[in-house]
Amino acid sequence: MEKKQLLRKLPKIDELLKEEAVKVKLESTMRTMVIDSLRQSIDNYRELILKDSIEDFTKENILETFMEILEENSASKLRKVINATGVVIHTNLGRSLLAKKALENVITIADSYNNLEYDLKKGQRGSRYSHVEELIKKVTGAEAAMVVNNNAAAVMLALNTLCKDKEAIVSRGQLVEIGGSFRVPDVMSFSGAKLIEVGTTNRTHLYDYENNISENTGVLLKVHTSNFKILGFTEEVSVEELVELGRSKGIPFIEDIGSGTLVDFSKYGFTYEPTVQESIRKGVDAITFSGDKMLGGPQAGIIVGKKEYIDKMKKNQLTRALRIDKMTLAALEGTLKYYLEEKEAVENIPTLHMILSDKDLHKRRAQKLKRKLQSKVSGFDFTIEEDYSMVGGGSMPAEKIPTYVIKVKNSRFSPQDLEKKLRGNKVSIIIRVSNDEVIMDLRTLFDEDFDTIVNAFVNL
Ligand SMILES: *Cc1c(COP(=O)(O)O)cnc(C)c1O
Repeated sequence: MEKKQLLRKLPKIDELLKEEAVKVKLESTMRTMVIDSLRQSIDNYRELILKDSIEDFTKENILETFMEILEENSASKLRKVINATGVVIHTNLGRSLLAKKALENVITIADSYNNLEYDLKKGQRGSRYSHVEELIKKVTGAEAAMVVNNNAAAVMLALNTLCKDKEAIVSRGQLVEIGGSFRVPDVMSFSGAKLIEVGTTNRTHLYDYENNISENTGVLLKVHTSNFKILGFTEEVSVEELVELGRSKGIPFIEDIGSGTLVDFSKYGFTYEPTVQESIRKGVDAITFSGDKMLGGPQAGIIVGKKEYIDKMKKNQLTRALRIDKMTLAALEGTLKYYLEEKEAVENIPTLHMILSDKDLHKRRAQKLKRKLQSKVSGFDFTIEEDYSMVGGGSMPAEKIPTYVIKVKNSRFSPQDLEKKLRGNKVSIIIRVSNDEVIMDLRTLFDEDFDTIVNAFVNL
């Protein structure tokens, strides 16, 4: 058919609204969304005609496209995905999953009025920070604590409070970028602190700090180099030495410990990672860390340390802009409660549980998933192999956790095509492509999602 004729053949929205299939949708979907989706479907075909991509079409074609568009438009944009990458704290996929008590708390608090800023004993205005402060103090051993939106905000608040218009001395080896959005030098300059870089990339000595201390010095800063390790000829000044130096000069020492591990992972066969409790014990004045990395809670930035410094931070006007909301507080309280007993934390907090779960468990689970896949899917070759998972989130970059994976081979799709197809599944499945192989790591998969995965392969 000719272009002009085809264009004239495009139906009007009013006409499509009379179609039975559209009427059914109108019963359960907002009218504006139905009309938008109809318009998008028609526009779609208009474009195809103008580009000479189609020779003809039917009303049914337009209605089918409408159904697909409507489904996409009605679905939440922020949605569940299945993480088969084996990266436990996956920043792109939402980092930590909340533990059961944390989830229950969020629902209760979001669904009702609450005492967010109301002191129920005194019957007057209270502080939103009070609810978790005691718990954080108890778990970490700190004198005082407060929470803000994320760790980037925590670092900013700490520096702005203790080091505005003054100098912060930091080792060159610690001027890190984390995930592209957190660069230590940038955050420091936003805070109003002036950065004094000392030492070299691989070696910094105590005298490098000492020689740069002047009446303009505001803080000594140590940043945990979360996402990389410098190996070989290296030297870092220890936390103890910096505590001592700060004390002797009357300068506060801030440590951005990053992941905020509250559990000593070396007990479970991992490389030792400094814990928050240890830094408190050693006398660091203020320590900042994330809520949704190794802690396994919601996005938050936690600051613990000496009361005199934390009190100053609480009074800083910036807190108003960095403040944590009630749902996060509810989730954080629920998560932190588990830490009152380490055993409870390790068993119930998904991030900890996933990192520490044994590879043999994942071998059995791989066998179960493989059986399901083989019984329903043909033309694919599924093999179980030993491999490694990663902690992720810039935490423990050198740690490779032994795991079991399913490798997928087939002649129909390239690994890249298969990755894309699975990502395009109704519930997206994010897999790993490595050495031109498609890999699904059992460590970050849930048994409840096995059927969804099998169906995704069936529908390829
Ligand atoms: C992850 C990380 C940050 C940023 O924390 P967010 O909670 O993502 O804001 C800052 N510093 C270090 C050392 C980190 O590892």
